[in-house]
Amino acid sequence: MKKVIFFTDLKKLPKALEYFSIQSFRSKKIPVKLHIGEDKNEYFPRPDFVRHVIDELLRVNADPYLFDTTVAYSGSRHTKAGYLKLADKHGFNEKNVGCSVVIDDSGVPTTIEGRKYEVADHLVKSTHIFAISHVKGHIATGMGGAIKNFGMGGVTKETKIKMHHGSRPIYQKDNCTFCGVCAEVCPFSAIEVENNSWKQNMRSCFGCGVCVDSCKDDAIQNKDANIQFVLACAAKACVQNKNVIYLNELKRIARSCDCDPFAGPVICPDIGYLVSDDPVAIDKASLDLIHDVKPDVFEKENKISPFKQIKYGEEVGLGSSSYELIKL
Ligand code: SF4
Ligand code: SF4
Repeated sequence: MKKVIFFTDLKKLPKALEYFSIQSFRSKKIPVKLHIGEDKNEYFPRPDFVRHVIDELLRVNADPYLFDTTVAYSGSRHTKAGYLKLADKHGFNEKNVGCSVVIDDSGVPTTIEGRKYEVADHLVKSTHIFAISHVKGHIATGMGGAIKNFGMGGVTKETKIKMHHGSRPIYQKDNCTFCGVCAEVCPFSAIEVENNSWKQNMRSCFGCGVCVDSCKDDAIQNKDANIQFVLACAAKACVQNKNVIYLNELKRIARSCDCDPFAGPVICPDIGYLVSDDPVAIDKASLDLIHDVKPDVFEKENKISPFKQIKYGEEVGLGSSSYELIKL
């Protein structure tokens, strides 16, 4: 059973990190993987919180730097220069966080479950990684936590595009009974079923796969695979055989993710922090704690179950959903 440490006061962070041999990070260059927040997003991790982590890494004589990858869609985070400028605007600079900020595009192909994922060079080269993940809802995957921080945030933009495209639904007319269930469950009203006709507006489709799961007649399939499955696989490609400490922040838990400029509102009260060495255990513990305060809040808000990434994470050997919660 994996250990997940829970605390509400950041003064307990050093003690929490001791459970996972933070001392072994000594003398190593450490990418601290985090999402620095889209322009106009209000919920991303704050620099003063990140500073606590950097101070702990410096205390054990590690050599940390903040790290993230560029994104596939247009905007500030599409290029290294644009992302660095935005990071500075959000307060992530050497003066505030005590280390440098690195954004990179380059990747190394890694095969998991028969699919190639280009993992960020900086992650591939590192033996030790620290992950700061802000837990919040997500319109296509239900929630974003440690698995998503790597599964989408740890790969190149080419791989991000491939993952999104591969999760789009493919319609098989011959199997369709025009029951209309897929149209009812689609969170984005991207499907219309009327008088024996089935139409999809691809521009409204986020590839969540809910329609695929809802169709009992096998008339819709993922082009390649469910988005939460490829997230789990890509996360495994990033962290397998590495020493990783995961810190999940359960604060400012918004409806949508930090890449959304309009991610609000906050849908769950602040809960605290979790630390673990297992991305599946920490995300499962995050979901369970949120569920205790606001039952099924992500399912209600985004109409997508985030538990699939936990199930797939376990299936592909990314981690374990069984955990012991230790409260400090
Ligand atoms: S749920 Fe399946 S069978 Fe029913 S309308 Fe949609 S695609 Fe057709
Ligand atoms: S994948 Fe999601 S968004 Fe796209 S049509 Fe299906 S249910 Fe709607």
